[in-house]
Amino acid sequence: AAPGKAAGALPGGGGAASARTPCGITFEQVVKRFGDNVVLDHLDFAVGAGERVTLIGPSGSGKTTILRLLMTLERPDGGVIRVGDDPLWHMERGGKLVKAGEKHLHEMRKRIGMVFQQFNLFPNMNVLRNLTEGPVHVLGLSRDEAVERARGLLELVGLADKEDAHPTRLSGGQQQRVAIARALAMEPTVLLLDEVTSALDPELVVGVQDLLRDIARSTDVTMLCVTHEMGFARDISDRVLMFDQGRIIEEGPPGTIFEEPREERTRAFLRAVL
Ligand code: ADP
Repeated sequence: AAPGKAAGALPGGGGAASARTPCGITFEQVVKRFGDNVVLDHLDFAVGAGERVTLIGPSGSGKTTILRLLMTLERPDGGVIRVGDDPLWHMERGGKLVKAGEKHLHEMRKRIGMVFQQFNLFPNMNVLRNLTEGPVHVLGLSRDEAVERARGLLELVGLADKEDAHPTRLSGGQQQRVAIARALAMEPTVLLLDEVTSALDPELVVGVQDLLRDIARSTDVTMLCVTHEMGFARDISDRVLMFDQGRIIEEGPPGTIFEEPREERTRAFLRAVL
């Protein structure tokens, strides 16, 4: 089924429980090492509120690490990461990094939604429960409010008839659409997309990409996306950042990066993936 329209269910769609304002992301001099491997070396970049930015570049260049740092699944070895004006991690005077309190991390995580390559749906819950768990337990919505929001989102992603289904009975494309709806159910200010179509059979890719394009057009959610699908990157992004070995070697609007890349390494990368 083609995803239907349910603008009221979208982030920023004006639901009574929504108190979101769009916010951006800032990396300032961020360092991340795994042992001796310096994955991010004093990385600076910013994504504006409501901006759609895609990270491209060879495998191992640090793109996923950036998303994992934002999800607080990894902690940096230096620098500051902000979501809006607030640092994810508290910095002591002198720049020493201090682990943030659980309460602060919990508040920060609420602002961020992530969709993974492997869907990561809750396997022991039906589709509706997958969408209502977070809003009830993390945001404090009543079950009725959460169900109403979930149904609106299932309509948006074209799966209104699957609310009782068990995730394992759905196709990969359907599971990924549920995962997208689940992320949106939390009304995040920032949506992180990590290779969201790379585990899908080719015929299922387009449906998921079309859905994300619709969401990008109809909401003000800030999007940071990692993908190897250059057509998708081109359609969805305001700006593309080309990574190589933990550094941004080139950035610009998709038309410029894909048609007139300045750097030889970008040209070589695009030749290999296009
Ligand atoms: P990309 O997403 O661009 O493919 P990643 O961010 O996944 O790159 O990885 C960047 C580098 O960090 C790679 O060299 C990878 O081997 C290393 N790396 C990522 N996660 C870990 C980890 N948990 N432990 C050790 N090394 C890691």
